[in-house]
Amino acid sequence: MFEKILIANRGEIALRIQRACRELGIKTVVVHSEADRDAKYVRLADESVCIGPAPARDSYLNMPAIISAAEVTDAEAIHPGYGFLAENADFAERVEKSGFVFIGPRPESIRLMGDKVSAKHAMIAAGVPVVPGSEGALPDDPQEIQRIAREVGYPVIIKAAGGGGGRGMRVVYTEAALLNAVTMTRSEAGAAFNNPEVYLEKFLENPRHIEIQVLADGGRNAVWLGERDCSMQRRHQKVIEEAPAPGIARRLIERIGERCAEACRKINYRGAGTFEFLYENGEFFFIEMNTRIQVEHTVTEMVTGIDLVQQQILIAAGEKFLLRQRDVVIKGHSIECRINAEDAFKFTPSPGRITSWHAPGGPGVRLDSHVYTGYMVPPNYDSMIAKLITYGDTRQQAIARMEIALSEMAVEGVQTNIPLHRELMQDARFVEGGTSIHYLEHKLSQRP
Ligand code: ADP
Repeated sequence: MFEKILIANRGEIALRIQRACRELGIKTVVVHSEADRDAKYVRLADESVCIGPAPARDSYLNMPAIISAAEVTDAEAIHPGYGFLAENADFAERVEKSGFVFIGPRPESIRLMGDKVSAKHAMIAAGVPVVPGSEGALPDDPQEIQRIAREVGYPVIIKAAGGGGGRGMRVVYTEAALLNAVTMTRSEAGAAFNNPEVYLEKFLENPRHIEIQVLADGGRNAVWLGERDCSMQRRHQKVIEEAPAPGIARRLIERIGERCAEACRKINYRGAGTFEFLYENGEFFFIEMNTRIQVEHTVTEMVTGIDLVQQQILIAAGEKFLLRQRDVVIKGHSIECRINAEDAFKFTPSPGRITSWHAPGGPGVRLDSHVYTGYMVPPNYDSMIAKLITYGDTRQQAIARMEIALSEMAVEGVQTNIPLHRELMQDARFVEGGTSIHYLEHKLSQRP
């Protein structure tokens, strides 16, 4: 087992990884920017190294600074968390070339899945159902593009092969708008992702977002750990996640889960990963794979009792991966609300000093957060300040506990989206379960 791990991230996930390490008896090094210097989780680590000024490109994205921090502290492995460099194949490669273990998949797997066109190909080869669309990237010939779109059937969505974070996508309803949309998406993709390749797929009008969590040892052993429903989204960003997904027959989930585990074996996937699907009319369609731990991994931990971050570390350390599919038993229900420092109505970020912080508690309540009274929310990063997670024997109980926890939670000094979450816990359609990915946007547009 490792003696010391470097955590190349910040905020709640840096603290989450630190907790997993401490439980395993592993020492931690936290790297931080100047903006995060005084954060409590930085001081809680065994060692900390400042890797640059506040802007992420100078610190949390600064590969040489992170690798030299690992060198000077004698860390053996680097955990990238999520975001920043977590899905950067070049970083994973440089980490390994410098003699450290990258806690994540092999660089080839990150590269394969990072390009959505090659990811789709790999899924088709592994027998995972995908959204119908162009076979690979779109060609240059305008008539050929029109032919493909006609064959797939409108509406279609043009997506950047290198896209991520909900960017680089355009929905097209008519042939008249097609070529212009392709040109625009291509030039945006070239500028934003350094890869102008785009592809086309059927735009599903009312799907749910369902994803499958996997753990694999890089060889023959791969298990899937149930599903999550992340349909409650705003601007393609997840707001609430839950496990299991309400109202989907277990045998359908089992069939798709088995396919995902099999796909992992086929590509010799190593570590934790997520297969994302759109689900409509009883069918699953693969959209992408995330080759990292996800924000919403917590709800899977609550219903399986398996610590996913510890599993990542054990797999990376080359410990024998003992988990078998029969050991994965889903029990009860869990919901996560992402608490952001933002205006609950206009959604503008609200950085600043937290003058008062009161955390909720009680049975079935988990709060993953690095925040405390006096903490300064920097303006430089994502606005998420906490993840509030509840667990119950039933979905109804998880919702009831979430309502109580949200009512107990009190944050002053910055604005938060707690009022939005409280509204959603009372929303009849959410309570019923199974809303589509458009539901939240639609609800917000109806607000007075
Ligand atoms: P990203 O990597 O940017 O998150 P995804 O491929 O995961 O991109 O898509 C993000 C979101 O965009 C999905 O959760 C869904 O809301 C929407 N989306 C993507 N593809 C389609 C599609 N074919 N039909 C309908 N919505 C889609």
